[in-house]
Amino acid sequence: LWQDCLLQLQDQIPSSDFSTWLRPLQADTDMPNCIVLYASNMFVKSWVENHYLNRISKIARELSRNPELVIKLQEGSKPANRSQGVETKAAEAVSQSVAPVQENPLPFRSNLNPHHLFENFVEGKSNQLARAVGQKVANRPGDKSANPLFLYGGTGLGKTHLLHAVGNGMLADNPNARVVYIHAERFVQEYVKALKAERIENFKKFYRSLDALLIDDIQFFAGKEGTQEEFFNTFNSLFEGEKQIILTSDRYPREIEKIDDRLRSRFSWGLSIPIEPPELETRVAILMKKAEEKRIHLPEEVAFFIGQKLRTNVRELEGALNRVHANADFTGKSITIDFVRETLKDMLALQDKLVTVENIQKVVAEYYRIKVSDLKSKNRSRSITRPRQLAMALAKELTNRSLPEIGRGFGDRDHTTVLHACRTIAALREEDNNIQEDWSNLIRTLSA
Ligand code: ADP
Ligand code: MG
Repeated sequence: LWQDCLLQLQDQIPSSDFSTWLRPLQADTDMPNCIVLYASNMFVKSWVENHYLNRISKIARELSRNPELVIKLQEGSKPANRSQGVETKAAEAVSQSVAPVQENPLPFRSNLNPHHLFENFVEGKSNQLARAVGQKVANRPGDKSANPLFLYGGTGLGKTHLLHAVGNGMLADNPNARVVYIHAERFVQEYVKALKAERIENFKKFYRSLDALLIDDIQFFAGKEGTQEEFFNTFNSLFEGEKQIILTSDRYPREIEKIDDRLRSRFSWGLSIPIEPPELETRVAILMKKAEEKRIHLPEEVAFFIGQKLRTNVRELEGALNRVHANADFTGKSITIDFVRETLKDMLALQDKLVTVENIQKVVAEYYRIKVSDLKSKNRSRSITRPRQLAMALAKELTNRSLPEIGRGFGDRDHTTVLHACRTIAALREEDNNIQEDWSNLIRTLSA
């Protein structure tokens, strides 16, 4: 029961909170109708009780009849025998016995997270197009021009957030719309469960009766042939009925492996839109927004410092902010650059180690099938100068090296050469799709 609850909580609660508070809880799994959770300390226990107990019991009620929910303190290891006097009393104190609910074979749940909205999705160059198309789809679901809508991009860049935002947008316009969000992994599980329980007709009926189906991380369908077959038919049925389908993936449709060709080709029938890693200004804006939401006093220069250091992924930014906040709360100190540097020491060190000028040169050389030595050489042929400029611009973007330092790393070139490279690449990315695509691919590779 707890595992099923977790799956739903994961959809409903911001991922950083989920992994901070809920994922680490230990649970007794051998009782079908009862959830006993163990928190590692008093603080975690009361936090979970205050913030999540109601939500958990609500979900438990949907999943099971008359479930019982108890949160206990973990003492060393999990107590094996639960029927000791003191324990039971403690359990009674927090136990919530919940009223039985009416049996309902297929309760309709949208699974939409009401906190993921367009309003709190910060716009920047990296996600502008995806956001705009998302809004259009929310207003005109089913329109052929963007059906299916396929959003792709690296992890932690806002795909799931945007997917929920589109779903919530549809509901805002039409509260009765049957919109369902589901993670691909969960879809697979439900399919298998339906097969086992011989309820596959129910399953089919349910998904084919929707107005919009939003499936997250579709790459999880890889190798799942049965699910793919079922989804193929669902897709066709929805598509023919001009119902909206939205999919996300960590890569471009063409690049998803172990997916049936017929399905893969359908993925690109509508619109495929990338979400790129956010630029510095967007990273800072996101941090400020999240701080405001969580009522954290975050000075702008500190946001700027964090944004400059952590460059690749919004989830990581948010995690960093949470950590800084928790530590500030705990120590009573105010949030300054020095405080952040100390608090995030390990994260910052890791970042510096991963993306070095040498590493960038290696990756760029491999990407263009040239040699690292070419990048440092005086060779002026076009097939070398372009990759060289890209590598310099990437070094400026992804490391903390100064222009002269970067120049030295490229065969002792002058800092003005590096500056020129950065400007050239910035301009080319605007006008040349191939360069922009190379840039994104390289950033993805380097920040993986
Ligand atoms: P993905 O699904 O691409 O891995 P998520 O949608 O889960 O990424 O985003 C990770 C976290 O970052 C979420 O908490 C989300 O709210 C936040 N986030 C990502 N992009 C933005 C944005 N542009 N504005 C505000 N929050 C964002
Ligand atoms: Mg996601």
